[in-house]
Amino acid sequence: MTLFPELVGYVLGESIIGRAQKSGAIEVHTHQIRDYSEDKHRRVDDTPYGGGKGMLMAAPPVYNCFQGVLRKQAEDGFTGTRRVIYLSPAGKVLTQKKAEELAQYDNLILLCGHYEGIDCRVINEIVDEELSIGDYVLTGGEIPACIVVDSVARLCEGVLADPECYEKESISSGLLEYPQYTRPYEWHGVKVPDVLISGHHANIDAWRLQQATEKTQKQRPDLLQRKD
Ligand code: SAM
Repeated sequence: MTLFPELVGYVLGESIIGRAQKSGAIEVHTHQIRDYSEDKHRRVDDTPYGGGKGMLMAAPPVYNCFQGVLRKQAEDGFTGTRRVIYLSPAGKVLTQKKAEELAQYDNLILLCGHYEGIDCRVINEIVDEELSIGDYVLTGGEIPACIVVDSVARLCEGVLADPECYEKESISSGLLEYPQYTRPYEWHGVKVPDVLISGHHANIDAWRLQQATEKTQKQRPDLLQRKD
């Protein structure tokens, strides 16, 4: 649910996520909140009670849009599991673990705010959880929504060619990924480490684990402290 469906459609229409939509592995639908405005000028925002700078998205169009989405899903015979998420800098920060949790749902409804945010009453009424993509403030929830979709979709069956692609990646494994090399063998005077062309899989695994541990210790020591 967004005021800028074209932005979301464009970002998610390309590359792996675009192909996943074409193959039917995932579906992404955008809903224009403005279409649900009851105002004759299709306004969706208003000034905040109590004063303050900026405009707030009003509750009625957001709520009507949400009801419209539920109606469409019911017409399509959807009866699966669902989670409603408001993208917000005030939410818990998205992690790989959260993406894995969200990938278990059949349907995610993502609400994108704009301006100074959304009237809290509609958030309290329809939203299951607020998610942030990091401790900084953006102008709108569309880019965060695309990030949630991308991180969750790649965990869904049929989106990546091989689940190993994500199981061994940075963060998923609990460590950052080891350094990777591809052809040419020598580039700018730097050769590929001997172990990687040795064909000895146990040695390659041991080298990768050592490299991943050293890299994590150096770049993200906080990951090594995390209990999960
Ligand atoms: N006044 C709000 C506050 O202080 O929490 C910030 C509103 S922000 C300018 C406008 C919209 O961008 C938000 O409603 C939210 O949907 C989105 N947004 C901004 N930063 C975000 C972040 N770090 N993570 C997720 N969504 C974000």
